[in-house]
Amino acid sequence: MKTPFVTKEQLESIVEQFPTPFHLYDEKGIRETARNLYKAFSWNKGFKEYFAVKATPNPQILKILKEEGCGTDCSSLTELMMSERCGFSGDEIMFSSNETPACEFVKAREIGAIINLDDITHIDFLKETCGIPEKISCRFNPGGYFSLGTDIMDHPGDAKYGMTKAQLFEAFKRLKSEGVKEFGIHSFLASNTVSNEYYPALASILFSLAVELKEALDVHITFINLSGGIGIPYTPDKEPNDIFVIGEGVHKAYDEILVPAGMGDVKLCTELGRYMLAPNGHLVVKAIHEKHTYKEYIGVDACAVNLMRPAMYGAYHHITVMGKENEPCDHKYDVVGSLCENNDKFAVDRMLPKIDKGDLLVIHDAGAHGFAMGYNYNGKLKSAEILLQEDGTPRMIRRAETPEDYFATLEGFWE
Ligand SMILES: *Cc1c(COP(=O)(O)O)cnc(C)c1O
Repeated sequence: MKTPFVTKEQLESIVEQFPTPFHLYDEKGIRETARNLYKAFSWNKGFKEYFAVKATPNPQILKILKEEGCGTDCSSLTELMMSERCGFSGDEIMFSSNETPACEFVKAREIGAIINLDDITHIDFLKETCGIPEKISCRFNPGGYFSLGTDIMDHPGDAKYGMTKAQLFEAFKRLKSEGVKEFGIHSFLASNTVSNEYYPALASILFSLAVELKEALDVHITFINLSGGIGIPYTPDKEPNDIFVIGEGVHKAYDEILVPAGMGDVKLCTELGRYMLAPNGHLVVKAIHEKHTYKEYIGVDACAVNLMRPAMYGAYHHITVMGKENEPCDHKYDVVGSLCENNDKFAVDRMLPKIDKGDLLVIHDAGAHGFAMGYNYNGKLKSAEILLQEDGTPRMIRRAETPEDYFATLEGFWE
């Protein structure tokens, strides 16, 4: 069962101040998630979460996470600029980019971000662009399949990211000769894993690799980056991950592999996005139309522009009809947006209570990769973002786009 983090009464008063649709974030939930993550990894001195900015690129969210001890993980110029503007600097910023333009490496070096190289050929590119820093990370891709023996499976061999094992050894050798003093390794093998076993399995792979690298090349590996990939249960039937079980699983691998190799000082880091923010964000919409043709449709005042995952991946997002939580789910609806695209459906054949025009609907788990993925197809405008602060009051942290914003980049439009 999924319950919204706001009550109907709370939401009705927010809607009086800020019209739907909007993304609503739960400050309390965000802080709790961050605190529990840090608690789960407190056994590792120097552990740091670098929040994946792409998941929820809003400065007020980044500032909350900064207060909880997090850094940022960036992969573009604007994400670096946002991090800098929010007061992150140096080791608080991870730059895990790929196919990186020169100007982005320049910016990353300027603000002292830790560069995480995606490919061996980027060593020369970086050297020519802005020089090799003394601390650097490389991204590993083991290839093939990655499987936990459950339904968790991914295909690193088909992923564009990272270096092969042979390239990684070559890259470390080269970087050492270029004067690098501190090394890190990073890998991202599976996305949205709802399993307590993903991180421990990934950690074992990276820890063993780190020991091999150190023994073969006598390099000083100071950090290992487990990246993102811890998932959330989008459907109500699934159990969420237990971050404390995950932390202990990684701890065990650390004690078994790194400590005996004399590497018990390696700092761990993560680049979680979805896990940190997804459940702590709702897309709040209003039912504005009902249509009865070959199917029953509920038209809402948002569309795929505001949350693209259902249209893009066929992703399930749970929906609560506010105030009707205890009514029977005896109506089968397609809950749809207004794009001229038939995949613009927040839900297909979903059993819900009877929806009336004017009902407020909460679309769950929209706090990460939600607003951020938005686009402007059909000339639709992006919504506002509202922070539900710890004291229960709402604060607008991004206004909704206006037609003027949409037209702003056109040359000669207003003449
Ligand atoms: C997208 C991404 C993340 C965050 O992934 P989540 O699935 O949101 O945890 C972390 N690191 C890198 C390099 C990414 O591309």
